[in-house]
Amino acid sequence: MSKTLTKPNTVKARAELALNDEFLRKAVKFTTERLRNGKKNASAEHGNWDEWRERGRQIRLHTIAHLDYYLNMFVNNARANGVHVHFAETGAEAVRIALEIAKHKQAKTVVKSKSMVSEELHLNHALEEIGVEAIETDLGEYIIQLAGETPSHIVIPAIHKNRHQIAELLSEVAGEKLAADTTVLAGFVRKKLRENFLEADIGMTGCNFAIAETGSMVLFENEGNARMVTTLPKTQITLMGMERIIPSFQDLEVMATLLPRSATGQKLTMYMSCITGPRREADADGPDEMHIIIVDNGRSLQLGDPEFQELLNCIRCGACLNACPVYRHIGGHAYGGTYSGPIGAVLTPALNKNVAEWDDIANASSLCGACYEACPVKIPLHEMLIYLRRRKVESGYGNKLESAGMKGFASIMRSAKRYRAALGVGKLGQKLVVRGGSIRTKLGPLKGWNAYRVTPSLPKTSFRQRFAALDEEIRQGLNEMSPEMRSRMERIVKQREQGKGGHGHG
Ligand code: SF4
Repeated sequence: MSKTLTKPNTVKARAELALNDEFLRKAVKFTTERLRNGKKNASAEHGNWDEWRERGRQIRLHTIAHLDYYLNMFVNNARANGVHVHFAETGAEAVRIALEIAKHKQAKTVVKSKSMVSEELHLNHALEEIGVEAIETDLGEYIIQLAGETPSHIVIPAIHKNRHQIAELLSEVAGEKLAADTTVLAGFVRKKLRENFLEADIGMTGCNFAIAETGSMVLFENEGNARMVTTLPKTQITLMGMERIIPSFQDLEVMATLLPRSATGQKLTMYMSCITGPRREADADGPDEMHIIIVDNGRSLQLGDPEFQELLNCIRCGACLNACPVYRHIGGHAYGGTYSGPIGAVLTPALNKNVAEWDDIANASSLCGACYEACPVKIPLHEMLIYLRRRKVESGYGNKLESAGMKGFASIMRSAKRYRAALGVGKLGQKLVVRGGSIRTKLGPLKGWNAYRVTPSLPKTSFRQRFAALDEEIRQGLNEMSPEMRSRMERIVKQREQGKGGHGHG
C-alpha cells in the first residue's frame, strides 16, 4: 500500500528543503496558527488554566517518580481483566512480540489507530515483511501512508499537505478524479475504511493514558475510527509507552481537561474511550483477545536523570510544535525522527544515547521558551535543549571550530587588555570583507549566518573611545566657562551626586 521516499540525511539539508517548499510552509503555518488560537481561546475560557497546568504537572511528576509502583498496579489489574500484558525493553523486542501475535492469529490485515509508538518502532514495515497488510485508519495517518511519508506532527500527521494534494492521493485509490472538497474526500475515506474495519484480523492502537487503579487504557479521538479498531477485530493489540500511566480516574479528569484543549482547542474530543479488557459475556461487541505491549525503548534511561526525567511527563498534545517558531517554518520532516518540534528535538536524542547519531537536532531551536509556555505539564524543553547541546560537546561531538572560537572569545572577554587588542585586530582585518557597512563574506563560520542575515561591521571608533572623547569635550567646556557659571555647574553636579535636586531645574 505504501511507497517509500528518501530524505536528505542532515537536519540542515532537510530544513533547507522545507524552506523552499512554498506549499508546505503555507499549510504548516495555516494549521499551526489555527491550533494555537484554538488553544489560546480554550485555555482562556477555562479560567484557571495555570492552576490546572500545575495540577497536571504534579500528577505527572508524582507518577513518574513512582513509575514502578503504578506500572505494577496497572499490570496486575489489566491481567485480572483478562488482558495479556507483555514487556518490551527495546523496539526490536516490541516488534517481535507484535509479529508473533500476528503470526499466531494468521492475520492478513491489521487496522491501526492512534499510535505514535508503532511509528517509533517502524512496525508497519515489519508487518509488511511477513505478509500482513497494516492499514492506518486515522484520516491524517491514512493520507501519509498513501504518500509513503512519516507523520510531520504528533496530532495532525498530514499537516504539511493541502486538500489538492490529498485529493490527488485519494483519486489514485478511488480510480477516478475526486473533487478537492473536504466533505467528498472524508466521505470517500470513511466508506473505504468501513470495509477494512470489517475484514481486519487485528486492531492495533496506541494509548493516551493507562489507568493504574483499574487497568484501563484511554483513547482520545475525533473520528470514531479508534472505536472501530478496538471493537470490530477479534484481536486487539495496544502499544503503550511505559510512561503513559496515571494513577486514577480522578487524575484522568485533569488530563482530559489539559490534553484536548492543548492539542486542538477542544473542550473534549468527540470520543473518549476507556477500554478495560476484552469483551465480556454480556458485552455486545469488543475483541475476544486483548494484548498490551508496554514499550521501554530508551524511556527508562531518563528515570533518575535530573535533567531529563521530566521528559517522561509529556502527554503528546503537540502544543509545543504549534508554538515553536522553528517548527512553524520547517514542519516536522526536517527533524528526521518520529517525533518532531521541540519535544522531538529533545526526545529523539534522549531515547538514543548514542551521541554519534544525534545529528544537529538540538540546534533546531531558538531557545525562546515558547514551548515551555505552551506545554500543559510545564516541561522545560528549552532548558533540556541546552543540556543536550552541552552533552554533545562534552562527548567530543561538538563543532570543533565553534568550540575553539568560544574558547578564544572567553579568553578575550576575561581581560580588558586582550579585548582592546582584539578590537584593534578585528577592525583592521574586517577591511577585507566589509562592504556598505556590513560584513558580507560567506566564507568560514560566517557562511551560514550571512546567507540569511546581515553582520554589522565593527564601528570605526569603539564605545570606550567615544566615551573618552565626550568626557574630554565636557572638561574642555568646563574650562572655557566663566568662573560663576563653572561654580554653578559644579554645585549642580555635586547635588546630583548626593541625590539632591537630581531632577532639578538649576
Ligand atoms: S512537551 Fe508538552 S507541549 Fe510538547 S507534546 Fe509534550 S505535553 Fe505537549
